[in-house]
Amino acid sequence: MRAQPKASHYVGGSYLESQTGTPFDSFYPATGEVIARVHTADDAVIEAAISAARTGQEIWAAMPPAERGRILRKAADILRERNRELSVLETLDTGKPLQETLIADAASGADCLEYYGGLAATLTGEHIDLGGSFAYTKREPLGICFGIGAWNYPIQIACWKAAPALVCGNAMIFKPSEVTPLSALKFAEALTEAGLPDGVYNVIQGFGDVGATMVAHPDIAKVSLTGSVPTGAKVASLAGEHLKKTTLELGGKSPLIIFDDADVENAISAAINANFYSTGQICSNGTRVFVHKAIKEQFLSRLAERTSSAVLGDPLDEATNIGPLVSRQQFDKVLSYMQIGQDEGARLVCGGGSAQVDSLPEGYFVQPTVFADVRDNMRIAREEIFGPVLSVLDFGDEDEVVARANDTEFGLAAGVFTKDIQRAHRVIGKLEAGTCWINTYNLTPIEMPFGGYKKSGIGRENGHAAIEYYSQIKSIYVEMDGVEAAF
Ligand code: NAD
Repeated sequence: MRAQPKASHYVGGSYLESQTGTPFDSFYPATGEVIARVHTADDAVIEAAISAARTGQEIWAAMPPAERGRILRKAADILRERNRELSVLETLDTGKPLQETLIADAASGADCLEYYGGLAATLTGEHIDLGGSFAYTKREPLGICFGIGAWNYPIQIACWKAAPALVCGNAMIFKPSEVTPLSALKFAEALTEAGLPDGVYNVIQGFGDVGATMVAHPDIAKVSLTGSVPTGAKVASLAGEHLKKTTLELGGKSPLIIFDDADVENAISAAINANFYSTGQICSNGTRVFVHKAIKEQFLSRLAERTSSAVLGDPLDEATNIGPLVSRQQFDKVLSYMQIGQDEGARLVCGGGSAQVDSLPEGYFVQPTVFADVRDNMRIAREEIFGPVLSVLDFGDEDEVVARANDTEFGLAAGVFTKDIQRAHRVIGKLEAGTCWINTYNLTPIEMPFGGYKKSGIGRENGHAAIEYYSQIKSIYVEMDGVEAAF
């Protein structure tokens, strides 16, 4: 097996195998080839990870923040040096084109480690003058944080959770998605090589049951999940029962609104990025593309023309820009929505089914698909598909499109294309979404907080904002005079 790790888990600074865990395979989605077999964490692995994290966290939290920052920045350098190797691994595990993984996965993880490494020495409290006496605040770690990953950006998600958690002095135990178990282990290796004390970052494998056991574990102080809304609800409810802090990065059905004064070619580029990058498997995708009636047909014909030039093929070939979906399950789900769209009466502009790549007959390939004349109440306009299915809805009026864009239980992201700057800011101001773009889409630099409104999440990742979710403030009142008492 060409991506077999040394063992399934990474605990206390080295690989660890479970004696009784259930085996499961990781597949290359382009061929169905089994690339690795790992085992779920059993109770012994879970307890070993908790114990290693407890020991590691004490040592780590006692280190000067600047030193913690240096270690994270060193880990960033290691990820960059190994970018190609890590990108090939991510492509094998996810099926995403190497063309993408080379720039968007380990590389964005490195950006994240570098950013939080740079912030390390700046995380201070405040001094509060009380007129003689005073108070000060300290920012303290939470303890052991548990991270749960989704399968679409495995190493990026691992880094987005670990870097802010670690910079605040926490330890982390991370469970990657069972669909993509591999790259988090390589990330753990890089952290150890960079000088991270053993036990500060641990990786355990497993399905939802391992996740739930960890969420309920009394030694876990905080849970950060990236996943779907239904999983988010389960995790929030269990974490709530145990009064654990939570960050939830969940799904979306985000609007991308294109006004008639927009630069249409740029708007089409954004719609392509917002629907077909990573074969449509991105939480913040702008899958409801509202296009002003005046430019709709021009937009559609050019979008179809540009979509027809997409190169589907072996993701390891750098010329490929659309790879397979991650799994058989996702393939079946996306194909069913392509059928639902047609059954609901949407106009199929292009795509609409599975795609044949001659050299890869077993791959989970689907055609990039565009539906037009989509109505707000259609399932393809309401439910998260998580595949390359773009729905075009038309509109004529600004207030109308804002109301329709907000008519969803999700609120992860939104985009607006217009050359009218007042309209751009006015519309963004009214959209119920946590992450917004004007005249672009889906750019998520590490400096910018990322997260959802409504059912798309709780809390924020990235930027200074994430620090709030991985630390707690201790307030200390210092008396400079005597103590008055009633008797
Ligand atoms: P999923 O919800 O099926 O699984 C996510 C993770 O949760 C997996 O590691 C899984 O093992 C774990 N899990 C499942 N049940 C659990 C439980 N009861 N307790 C604890 N853990 C449990 O999601 P997925 O299919 O892996 O990923 C796709 C979803 O993730 C989409 O909805 C997508 O929008 C969302 N996503 C969100 C973001 C974001 O940042 N907002 C980023 C990527 C993906």
